[in-house]
Amino acid sequence: MTSPTTLTITPDDIDLGALLSELHRWVEMETPSPDAVAVNRLVDHVEGYAKAAGLETERRAGTLSFGDILIARTPRLEGTNARRILILAHLDTVHATGTLAGPLPLRQEGDRLYGPGIYDMKAGVLMAVEAMRLAVRAGTHLPVDLLIVPDEEVGSKSSRPVIEELARDAAYALVVEPARDGGKIVTARKGVGMFDITVRGRAAHAGVRPLDGRSAIRAAAQLVLDLEALNDPARGITVTTGMIQGGTGRNTVPAECRLQLDLRLPDAATAAEIIGKIESLRPTDPDISFEISGGLNRPPFAQSAEGRKLFDQTAAIAAELGIALEGMATGGGSDGNFTAALGVATLDGLGADGAGAHTYEEHILVGSLLPRTALLANLLVSLDGTS
Ligand SMILES: [Zn+2]
Repeated sequence: MTSPTTLTITPDDIDLGALLSELHRWVEMETPSPDAVAVNRLVDHVEGYAKAAGLETERRAGTLSFGDILIARTPRLEGTNARRILILAHLDTVHATGTLAGPLPLRQEGDRLYGPGIYDMKAGVLMAVEAMRLAVRAGTHLPVDLLIVPDEEVGSKSSRPVIEELARDAAYALVVEPARDGGKIVTARKGVGMFDITVRGRAAHAGVRPLDGRSAIRAAAQLVLDLEALNDPARGITVTTGMIQGGTGRNTVPAECRLQLDLRLPDAATAAEIIGKIESLRPTDPDISFEISGGLNRPPFAQSAEGRKLFDQTAAIAAELGIALEGMATGGGSDGNFTAALGVATLDGLGADGAGAHTYEEHILVGSLLPRTALLANLLVSLDGTS
């Protein structure tokens, strides 16, 4: 692995004004994950932008009613068969259309630039295209593929096969999800589990024949306590009942209640243990039943030795840019979970610094754009697959 003594690419090589005006256009096109038409409008635009930046593009039609997948590649040299650097990105956001005209207008306050999806992660996608443009000009050891998916915020169900297909030939995976807590990058992520549980009892008139009823809500309430007793912060286990729905009316003993459960698990063994416990939950009342479905949506991303080396090399480049790079583990999942689980050295959180992901306070720090784009570009130039 090469460790550059002087950087090939500096922040001065990047035009901040041009980058910001482009970012404005991307944020002005709202892209909620379920709206394939809206997402594809931005995919069209980004495809043109990537071509203009000298990249080759491939578009794959969306599946499961999501938008299209876009792959932007550095031009391939004749006869090179090297393993690639895979950059993972998404263009969808959690914000509904109208957020821009409502609670989260595009606006700058000091160094903060606010807007829906700007931090998670339109700025990161734009930084990746710019870094690839700069890296092509400077020359890279490895080909680079930028994979931009339309459904990350809802679990990447339509994209996972493509992510795993490209990861199989990848020497490294770099995820341009936003930076965390003052510019930290992400070196490990918990696995994410999702369960749906339907509790069934028996309906009855609340006034006339209450003893005939078996309340599904009452059984579900006990079940929530049993589930949340699995929480163990010291071991990094979180179990959250995020949604509950049940009953048909005030005066009816409820026959059905549904729970939606979110799990965060630090490693594969813990995931198997906790999922086993959930799947073996049984009602104590024979007139009550549980229907439990779900499982691990994203496998845990624990830091590997190769991941550690990749972090160290990135931190060395960052130091030359005046960035004291720190790594951290997070409970939030990303597409990096899929590549790490396949054994690809993965580094995440390489996008813009800022805060407020998934809220109406979402913003980037404009001052982070150039140094972090330069960091990514130098990383693309220096990675040579020998680690
Ligand atoms: Zn994201």
